[in-house]
Amino acid sequence: MWTWSQLVVSAAAINLVRHQAPRQLSANRRLWVHHLATAQESPVCVKEPKKKARVVFCLGGPGAGKGTQCARLSDFGYVHLSAGELLRRERASGSKDGELIESYLSEGDIVPVALSLGLLKKEMERSESNYFVVDGFPRNIDNVQGWRDAMRDVADVDCVLFFDVPPEVLMERMLERGQTSGRSDDTLATAHKRLATYSEATLPLIEKFEHDGDFKVLRVKGIGSIDDVWQRTHDALRPFFPTTEDKKQAPHTKGDDREHLNGD
Ligand code: ADP
Repeated sequence: MWTWSQLVVSAAAINLVRHQAPRQLSANRRLWVHHLATAQESPVCVKEPKKKARVVFCLGGPGAGKGTQCARLSDFGYVHLSAGELLRRERASGSKDGELIESYLSEGDIVPVALSLGLLKKEMERSESNYFVVDGFPRNIDNVQGWRDAMRDVADVDCVLFFDVPPEVLMERMLERGQTSGRSDDTLATAHKRLATYSEATLPLIEKFEHDGDFKVLRVKGIGSIDDVWQRTHDALRPFFPTTEDKKQAPHTKGDDREHLNGD
């Protein structure tokens, strides 16, 4: 069946052919007209507008295992977007916001929503997929408000996947990761601040979601082996997985070119 965009370009092509004698058209233009007129088969076919995205928010303290588990969700049709990784990448790119980002990350503070959300939105727009697991966002009520304002017409949130891990385990994992990650926020001083920010801003947010029902929260016990946590994650999230039909409409989820951006 012809799509609306194909009908429009085909009508334009027919008009062009009708009003100009073919001999007046240059070879290139004839080729272009041919592509337009055969838009149904042609590789020049204009893209459909994107469908509304479907999002899973993945939350938990620093070191809860969000990045580790989200990496596996790529195999189930999700594009993994880590707010922390996008911010660190932006900081490293030498962008004008780099210093500002650094000042927040090194203090274990939450980066202003305009910055984190701007980066997430850009990645979602760039991707051809409609399914995303957004890791490490929203972290406070400001983030939620910013998301609602900017994404109302762009994305629906299916649920919040929350990894429940006690603070002493979070601290252990962060410091362990710090031995190899080279991350400036995996040091003892920053880890303490990050934990404090998490318990003051993010944990109450998750409790509010559960209490008020803003979003459906899937609370997953995040201790035990990575495989055990994965089994729980898989079982909890299974009802929301993209179907085979959904995946067919999302070319980036096929084969080996899946997108994945790891790390909180
Ligand atoms: P987050 O993205 O939530 O900050 P990560 O996925 O980076 O957390 O995990 C933090 C550290 O803990 C990493 O070094 C990771 O290898 C390790 N880790 C993740 N899940 C587990 C687990 N279930 N048991 C032990 N270590 C884990």
